[in-house]
Amino acid sequence: IDWWDHVGHAPKDPIMSVTEAFLSDTSPNKINLGVGAYRDDDGRPVVLQCVRDGEVKIAGTEFLESVSASVSSKLVEESVKLIYGKEADFIKEGRFAGVQALSGTGACRLFAEFQRRFYPQSRIYLPIPTWSNHHNIWRDAQVPGRTFHYYHPDSKGLHFAALMDDIKNAPDRSFFLLHPCAHNPTGVDPTEEQWREISNLFKVKNHFPFFDMAYQGFASGDLDKDAKAIRIFLEDGHLIGCAQSFAKNMGLYGHRVGCLSVLCVDAKQAVAIKSQLQHITRAMYSSPPVHGILLVSTILSDPHLKELWKKELKVMANRIHRMRSTLHESLKKLGSPLNWDHMTNQVGMFCFSGLSPDQVNRLVKEFHIYMTYDGRISMAGVTTSNVSYLANAIHEVTK
Ligand code: PLP
Repeated sequence: IDWWDHVGHAPKDPIMSVTEAFLSDTSPNKINLGVGAYRDDDGRPVVLQCVRDGEVKIAGTEFLESVSASVSSKLVEESVKLIYGKEADFIKEGRFAGVQALSGTGACRLFAEFQRRFYPQSRIYLPIPTWSNHHNIWRDAQVPGRTFHYYHPDSKGLHFAALMDDIKNAPDRSFFLLHPCAHNPTGVDPTEEQWREISNLFKVKNHFPFFDMAYQGFASGDLDKDAKAIRIFLEDGHLIGCAQSFAKNMGLYGHRVGCLSVLCVDAKQAVAIKSQLQHITRAMYSSPPVHGILLVSTILSDPHLKELWKKELKVMANRIHRMRSTLHESLKKLGSPLNWDHMTNQVGMFCFSGLSPDQVNRLVKEFHIYMTYDGRISMAGVTTSNVSYLANAIHEVTK
């Protein structure tokens, strides 16, 4: 018998499809602005020096069982310090449950699974728009999704009033997913003042803030500044959940290093929650591979390597910043009648350009420039040598 004749093709991932189309294009001018992976000014992927040095330091380590447990707690300890601040009372008092996770995606999925087990009737509120995989992750964990307003297409900025209304109108004690910095795909973040208002309203409504931190350091170049939203919620006494990824800020995409942390009222609760998180992973994949975890914990706990990492992170953030300004300037010089200020107002890896699907299609067909059809430009793919070609193409399709 044919066991699988009823299995059709799964829907294509919008980002993977862009990469596929880009790879099969033979034009020498082609540019990939789809995938959110950092590239240097020559368009090449980057292995950070702190990673190379970290690799040397851990070379030859024997991965015994006991090593794996202690490496994992070191990673968690160092990761939570980055998010909540090294002086956070939660950390000193052991009032958090933290586990290593398979990068940011794995951390989100693990939390979604945990949410369903202990709040089986709950939903997850996701911003419109959000990283498309958020919808898949909570759906597969059987947690129904709801949405809240976030982006305003006219201003190409935050739709703050509608966002606050949606937070207010959601049933008390709802779960919300928030991007603490460098929102994907819009590059639009609330201001500090707006975060304070959001946090206050969360208090009033007793909502649960789950932060998906995939780009710490990429918005401002500074790890603490990019964690400001979380610190504000912390000061206001929220119990927080947070998914952390080292894919982008350490350039470790394929190593799948991440952390999930959940703040608790006391250390006893933290122990119970951690055991539940481990119980979930045990049945799914037991534990993540230890190499990447050892690498990251080594970088974070070695003062010299950590400083080097911070410098390299700044270099990456600054390059992206520079490309935003150059693209903006180039469009102005070409005489574009449109307002492109959002290019420099938005932050992080992405620019939500406002280009329509038709315009994106023309960029592909006429200029061999690839991006997702929502008009999201991965700024990391823009370089000194392709920026004028890109500006000219954008100008042509928006005339
Ligand atoms: N969350 C957001 C908002 C993202 O943009 C990404 C990556 O694109 C992730 C999570 C997960 O990334 P990874 O699983 O590679 O850490």
